[in-house]
Amino acid sequence: MEKTLYELRTFHLTGRKKDKDLTDLGKLDLVPALLSRYRDLTQLRYDYPLVLVEGGGNSYVRSLTSITNGILQQIAPEGIEGERARKNLLSLELEMRSLTARSGRGTLSKLWETAAGRLLSDSDLSGEEKELLQANLARATRSLSADGEVVECNGEAPASLFVHAWKAIENKRARSVLQRLERLIVGLTGILRADDLKSKQGLSADSLRSSMGTSFEDEFDFGAMADSLVASSRESHLPRKRRERIRFALSVLDSQRFFASRLDGRGKEANGPYPFVVDSCTDVLKTYRDRIPHMVDFVKAVRIAELELSNEYDEAKHDPFFEQFDEESLSAEDVSFFPAYLVCLENSKYDDANKAALVEILSSDLPIKVLFRPDDVFGGSSVKSDRNTLGGWELQLANLAMSLGSAYVLQASSSSLYMMSEAISAGLEYQGPALFNIFSGSTTSFPNLAAYLVSASAAQSRAFPCFVYDPGAGENWAARFRVDGNPQMESDWPVDAFNYEDQDLQAVSEDLAFTFVDFAASDKRLSGNFISVPQARWHAKMVPAAEYLKLTDAEAADKVPYILMVDGENLLHRVVPTHNIISAARRYAETWRNLQELGGIHNSHALALLEREKQAWEEEKQREIEEIRGELGAEAAQIAAAEAPALEEGAEAAEAVEVKGPIEEAYIETPRCNACDECTKRNPKMFAYNENRQAYIADISAGTFRDLVESAEVCKVAIIHPGKPRNPDEANLEDLIKRAEPFN
Ligand code: SF4
Repeated sequence: MEKTLYELRTFHLTGRKKDKDLTDLGKLDLVPALLSRYRDLTQLRYDYPLVLVEGGGNSYVRSLTSITNGILQQIAPEGIEGERARKNLLSLELEMRSLTARSGRGTLSKLWETAAGRLLSDSDLSGEEKELLQANLARATRSLSADGEVVECNGEAPASLFVHAWKAIENKRARSVLQRLERLIVGLTGILRADDLKSKQGLSADSLRSSMGTSFEDEFDFGAMADSLVASSRESHLPRKRRERIRFALSVLDSQRFFASRLDGRGKEANGPYPFVVDSCTDVLKTYRDRIPHMVDFVKAVRIAELELSNEYDEAKHDPFFEQFDEESLSAEDVSFFPAYLVCLENSKYDDANKAALVEILSSDLPIKVLFRPDDVFGGSSVKSDRNTLGGWELQLANLAMSLGSAYVLQASSSSLYMMSEAISAGLEYQGPALFNIFSGSTTSFPNLAAYLVSASAAQSRAFPCFVYDPGAGENWAARFRVDGNPQMESDWPVDAFNYEDQDLQAVSEDLAFTFVDFAASDKRLSGNFISVPQARWHAKMVPAAEYLKLTDAEAADKVPYILMVDGENLLHRVVPTHNIISAARRYAETWRNLQELGGIHNSHALALLEREKQAWEEEKQREIEEIRGELGAEAAQIAAAEAPALEEGAEAAEAVEVKGPIEEAYIETPRCNACDECTKRNPKMFAYNENRQAYIADISAGTFRDLVESAEVCKVAIIHPGKPRNPDEANLEDLIKRAEPFN
């Protein structure tokens, strides 16, 4: 046995393996024990596939599971009555999962139809079963109100979801902007046309209405426009300057390329809208700068149009203002009028130029949202077992963005995207820049795990924790920063029950922590840092990694850490990591604890303050007790002095003076009670007031020693003396006796 421990320690410390019974992880098909039940995701109900809902407004994304659940609520009553409908619809969902896993994507309606057809073509169904299935599927189909692209958890999922979310938000914004633009265009056109008519008749409301068509008949006040024109065009002619100004505004608004089309669909066919989704930070900065003159003209045109239509344009005041109107004149509100830019930055494009551009974007107040999708939390192909290389800049990027202060930052794994959908919307709608750092989980380095499990285990193991930093949410970290998207966020590592059968076929349930070591053990590039130990060589000094990580160096000196993994035949393995992996796990745990602190969990400043306050309170209490005891002592000394001659006469009197020594029986100095109610409220059966409304012990057996001690502690005049405990089996007696000492 000692030889085994020596071999295991040697491997753990040096990474060198001499014993041939210890197997390299690369030769085994192992997954962490807690992930073994998820090997076939198509049989499970979880957040993926996602449905990118068309026209869904705020609910731009739903999980297939949530859609099925919604329909089940409508068509399957609770209990046995709805059982068959439930079974049929869940089979349909399962079939859709399998289809998506194979084909990757498609629309929900198409997938639904194909899956339903497959279920109905099952030759094992009896005629009656088929009829019922058909009826249930038809009812479910009628209740299906959402449609959209179905997305599996893979390398494409983050970009698909973000582009879809960006479109949903920008389309909503565009609708309100277009309404405003259309109103301005119609109004300005009306002014010019009316002037062209050059007659009073041409300025009438009816004439204006007929000259402009019916697009805005309900919204536009043609009567008011006619009044305005009559008032301003003294001779029914527009002054040249005004006509030029209106023509400028009209031509800018009519030819703008920031929004897709006008409400009636006119205009944009020949010269389409600008693209706003790009794939490079350097490009987006250049594009943004190139478009600034057009933005300036656009804002200028809108303001001129609004002044003209309200007949408030004052040439003396406004001409100089618009002559000097330039980039510097654009307010944050003006900029927020335009669509935000979305950069879907590929890993391969993250070169030095893009890094510099990204920092520039995140330090600015530009409405540029950057989606970065690392597919490796360890920093790409350079991963080595060296403890200093385990942890790439992918982890640092979001921290850097937060430190810049002005950018919205969201870091998450692909597996959390559905859960984080509101935070994604908030970042896309945020007025300034945003960074979304999303670990896709799509990598060939984890051959035994699906992308969803890789991304979920990165989050679980704290290798890629989830957090949100929203600078617009408030003035301090408590308002701006949160880590609530992480599993069991109060703990170092999340813990879950692992059930298995031991070698005697007995069911065993064990609580297992999912640590960074479990995550690293699934990465084939790090397989040389792990060995599997056959059951016959398991040793009493082997300690679960989560416990080992809490040990001091001295405590860990004769122990070996391990994690549990399961092979393809469901056999349990103990896997020992090298010291380098344990060091990396400590670093990741440290990073996680820092995030917890920022998020207000186990905050060291708050804990230290609490400890200081507690200590101060205890010192103050002790001081008060000492004061009272001092007063009591002086009082007793005076009494003793006064009665000394009598007391000296007999032993009986001497015993009476020994009141100051430890007492056996509890009692209250009743004549000194000031009826504060503290003891009588605490236990009204044990303590009662006498006819003078002063407390005494009415029934010592009606309470516990704790009641006596705690009452003594709160009694303002310290006249309750708890004596000694009557029940030797009462809980925490040792502590209570200690607390009683000052009062006895
Ligand atoms: S706590 Fe002390 S002062 Fe208050 S009622 Fe009880 S014995 Fe009297």
